[in-house]
Amino acid sequence: MRTLFDFRPVNDAFGDPGLYVDFRDERRALLFDLGDITALAPRKLMRLTHVFVTHAHMDHFAGFDHLLRVVLGRKAGIVLFGGPGFVAQVEHKLAAYTWNVVHRYDMELVIDARELGTDGGGERACFSSLRRFARERCGPFEPAGDVLHEETMFRVRGRFVDHDIPCLAYAIEEKAQVKVNKDQLLALGLGAGAWLHELKHAVLTGAPEDTPIRMQWRDRLGIHDETRRVGELHPLILDVVPGRSVGYVTDLRYTDPNVDTLAELLAGADLLFIESVFLDEDSDHAARKNHLTARQAGRIARRIGAGAVVPFHFSPRYAGRDAELIAEVRSAWSDLRPD
Ligand SMILES: [Zn+2]
Ligand SMILES: [Zn+2]
Repeated sequence: MRTLFDFRPVNDAFGDPGLYVDFRDERRALLFDLGDITALAPRKLMRLTHVFVTHAHMDHFAGFDHLLRVVLGRKAGIVLFGGPGFVAQVEHKLAAYTWNVVHRYDMELVIDARELGTDGGGERACFSSLRRFARERCGPFEPAGDVLHEETMFRVRGRFVDHDIPCLAYAIEEKAQVKVNKDQLLALGLGAGAWLHELKHAVLTGAPEDTPIRMQWRDRLGIHDETRRVGELHPLILDVVPGRSVGYVTDLRYTDPNVDTLAELLAGADLLFIESVFLDEDSDHAARKNHLTARQAGRIARRIGAGAVVPFHFSPRYAGRDAELIAEVRSAWSDLRPD
């Protein structure tokens, strides 16, 4: 079965960090970080519904203006997430322009900014083009633990790591998908009906194996009505595709608390996008700059048990040496020796 998302870095590994998360079956996308996003065509920016910013250093937030320019007058709304002070930062960005005509545009744009505090509390404000992007109240933002956003098919979790300032590390989690094996259904002489929906729901919500499912359907032989248990039907006719978990981790120090936070947020992640800014020979410099070395990134990937790792946010000082950074991440990630 097809997976829900397609994950693409916005730029090459020396460019500004960013991850574009495209829905395979919808004209819709999520974006992680908002630095230089000029590599994304306007039609790709128009698909964005939610943008998750790690922190407001320029290489992660300077693309706000470009995004605004593309969507203004063409898109109805966009939700932005960030860390402490984020709502005020969005407000200040918007206050830097003159808005005497935007209220006449046919399409109103509402920017919905949500921030997570280090105490776990939320703050939210909306900014409408109809009212010159003045800050307005628009309901609470109440994160459920580290879950910042949740829908039927996926959720996004975020936790703070230390980058001298609090910086959000994100987990993007597809939920498990359940599909009826139609060939198997036919082979068993069963017909489709509302009971299939009931069975799928029971499996996805973890109902006990002995939960009865009343199977009713009609075919050329007439009306069928029988009852079987979830534990019996599930292995016979359902294919369960486990959801993937993907990490987006950038801008942090290599400290024990940071590594522990990531191990909790991203345990067993299938895919990890992680900054690998410096070579380990420059680890003192990396510590001064509050960034990871490639080796440290690889060790984090190994600690969380990542199935695959994609390094990015390379320092320009290594131009032409990307193979060394990649090799250092990979050898630390696949190294089976204890630290
Ligand atoms: Zn950065
Ligand atoms: Zn930074």
